[in-house]
Amino acid sequence: MKLTEQILTNPQSAPAPLDNRITLAYGDGIGREIMESTLAILDAAGAGLEYDTIKIGKEMYLEGHASGISPEAWDVLRRNKAFLKGPITTPQGGGYKSLNVTIRKTLGLYANVRPCRAFTPYVKSHFPDMDLVVIRENEEDLYAGIEHQQTAEVVQCLKLVSRPGCERLIRYAFEYARAYGRRKVTCMTKDNIMKHTDGLFHQVFDEVAKEYQDIEADHYIIDIGAAMLADSPGRFDVVVTLNLYGDIISDITAQVAGSVGLGGSANIGSHISMFEAIHGSAPDIAGKGLANPSGLINAACMMLAHLGKGRIAERIQNALLCTLEEGIHTADLYNEAFTKQKVSTSGFTQAVIQRLGQEPSRLKAVRMGQQSKPIEVQVKPYVRPDKKLVGVDVFIDWADGNRIPAELGHQLEKLAGEALQLKMITNRGVKVYPDGFPETFCTDHWRCRFVASASKVDAQGSGMAYAAPVAYSDITNLLQRLTIAGLNFIKIENLYEIDGERAYSLGQGE
Ligand code: NAD
Repeated sequence: MKLTEQILTNPQSAPAPLDNRITLAYGDGIGREIMESTLAILDAAGAGLEYDTIKIGKEMYLEGHASGISPEAWDVLRRNKAFLKGPITTPQGGGYKSLNVTIRKTLGLYANVRPCRAFTPYVKSHFPDMDLVVIRENEEDLYAGIEHQQTAEVVQCLKLVSRPGCERLIRYAFEYARAYGRRKVTCMTKDNIMKHTDGLFHQVFDEVAKEYQDIEADHYIIDIGAAMLADSPGRFDVVVTLNLYGDIISDITAQVAGSVGLGGSANIGSHISMFEAIHGSAPDIAGKGLANPSGLINAACMMLAHLGKGRIAERIQNALLCTLEEGIHTADLYNEAFTKQKVSTSGFTQAVIQRLGQEPSRLKAVRMGQQSKPIEVQVKPYVRPDKKLVGVDVFIDWADGNRIPAELGHQLEKLAGEALQLKMITNRGVKVYPDGFPETFCTDHWRCRFVASASKVDAQGSGMAYAAPVAYSDITNLLQRLTIAGLNFIKIENLYEIDGERAYSLGQGE
């Protein structure tokens, strides 16, 4: 078996990674310049790290490795606990897979952590009091990447959200808040619409929050939450959210803070974590000594804290703040009012090293809180619930005649058989049969809901259609009848009751 296959099929067999030895990759463009600067500062601050270097990025893509990383590099990555990654250049053209997505998913990096802080007046921002952290789910949601075209007119993307996935991330957010002395964790979801997927995330948030009485917890619907992040970010502290929302709001917050060029981010996993600057490889300034290394330095500080070296991270970040407020700036931060000395990448590096041990006087100094040991997260053991099959949604590709729903409805009622009955048909989630409106626009994609037939329910004496069990053979028999009748079913979704509760959404108008 190849190593990558082993990782995917048996993550439990991963060897225990080492603490003081990290993997690093210089990356492309300005990668080498900013990495050399960062390593010089880490060494001067006494981080005591040793390095294993791997090659990633443009060169690997062009050598034919579709994900921008060589197969041998996985061995090194899995050996160490942390990976400090320089930015890479993705070559133009198709066929190249995102290296970040590959690493994130293969190594189970479940939490993306992005601190966003304003550095006014040295870096322009309308919100000088902004200092928040976005913690984003990193593996699930719409980013599971399961998409299908189902009919001539309709495509679908599956939104997958798991209980252990939510719990691990949300626990990490609360543990992070505790470790870094933050007072509040805000959850953002769209559970007023997606009651089951986003609803699960919110529910797990409420359950976990009860165990952290020392941390304030609240919830916003993502649309108003995102608007408030853009309008009054100072009111937030730690924000935890699903993958897609987190992707969007972490860019909004970095932009609003004015610190995209200075920001670092972490991708946290149970065994291995990856740290990098937010910005890209900046090919336009590569090799000119103009690059600002602050983003990678901040990422390296997140790594030190993750390795339990929070005090060293604090020293480096405070030296960086001193450099900034003393007006020693790289070209990207140059401004007439505050720049006293415009320096190269190496000039900036030396300025930070000279200030190790100093604290800023105008900018708020960094305090790492209790972060002296790595954050460990345990998902609680979980009792599998009682699951009962109560019906099926059959999705049908149908574009006959004028697409009159009643025609399809009458045909399906005849094909439903003895065990099942047609409950309703929806088109793009809106009920169109029985009792639909002629104004509703109908595509060629029909969701046809079958539940246990009334006669079967009565025979069992339950009196409740949804409580009557359906056999899997009832469904396969139905599909066979549909096929013989020439109806093209695309897929099915079974309807379950989980622990006696309806575990699927109703159609609009059902
Ligand atoms: P970019 O972030 O590389 O550059 C945008 C602008 O910001 C440029 O003008 C650049 O000179 C400037 N800039 C960026 N970092 C800087 C720094 N540290 N100091 C001073 N100036 C800096 O974004 P882009 O130009 O859109 O992308 C360039 C390449 O980077 C692309 O191939 C892209 O795919 C890749 N990229 C990689 C990552 C990553 O590896 N995580 C992230 C984003 C983009």
